[in-house]
Amino acid sequence: MPSRRSILKSALTGLIAAPFVAPSIAFAKAPYAVVQAPGFYRLKIGSVEVTALSDGTVALPLAKLYTNTSEQHAQSALNDAFLPEIVPTSVNAFLINTGERLVLIDAGTGAYLGPSLGKLVSNIEASGYKMDDIDDVVLTHIHTDHSGGLMSNGKRTFPKATLRVNEREAKFWLSAANAKAATGIVKQHFGEADQCVTPYVEAGKFETFADNAAPVPGLGSILYAGHTPGHSAITLESKGEMIVFWGDITHGDILQFDEPGVAIEFDIDQKAAVAARDIAFRQAVEGKYLVAGAHIAFPGIGHVRKDSTNYDWLPVNYA
Ligand SMILES: [Zn+2]
Repeated sequence: MPSRRSILKSALTGLIAAPFVAPSIAFAKAPYAVVQAPGFYRLKIGSVEVTALSDGTVALPLAKLYTNTSEQHAQSALNDAFLPEIVPTSVNAFLINTGERLVLIDAGTGAYLGPSLGKLVSNIEASGYKMDDIDDVVLTHIHTDHSGGLMSNGKRTFPKATLRVNEREAKFWLSAANAKAATGIVKQHFGEADQCVTPYVEAGKFETFADNAAPVPGLGSILYAGHTPGHSAITLESKGEMIVFWGDITHGDILQFDEPGVAIEFDIDQKAAVAARDIAFRQAVEGKYLVAGAHIAFPGIGHVRKDSTNYDWLPVNYA
């Protein structure tokens, strides 16, 4: 009877002695797959579940759009971070399941900004929820990349949800006089705000919240005005953990961390937007809490810390 050792020995010899045989199949000419996995990422804040959702990315010539800097300087900073001239820029939204209610923070672009975006609904479904499940939609601000997805084919995308917006933000965008006085891209934004927000108002599904007030029980807000007049971050705290949904405190995750004084053309009041970013960064460093950016590379969640070149963005560790 062969010993265990001799069996092992002959098996190993057989392995080593086996001649290399090339696989008989030809290499398959597989088509390139192109698409990513569904864009959702989950984490817990205390006992509350948060799902980051991708609406897709938009190709932006960021260096051309930044202000308070030169295009050349901005581009060289982006190049140093291995980013191209046209930067695929994330558009993120976030779903909070408090256990009591399902709250969507920002609503994506809908059909407004082209086929590389408008993927929020399919990603909500991929993450296991239905549009009917959503109780509230809270906007950080009314810009089409945050409110365009409120409507789909002329119907409210979230039929059961109450839309909740900071009071002064709503007042600004829903004013006919402001819309009439606006020019250029801002005038276009007024038109799109009307198309996307007014149906919720007419359906009796619209509420405002005061500066720094709770948009729904269990969440808070911080007025960081500047990007828009009532631009507000949404806060969530549970069991000693905290996350702040920043909205548009930054556009991108490189230049504005090193140089928070750099603004962007989309800021309605650039000076105030810079001041708001200063405060938001300082608070995030002091508070050591997680933040979630609407235009930081998906899932857009991470920490801010001080480093030798001012501030630094640290994406959350994948888990
Ligand atoms: Zn935005």
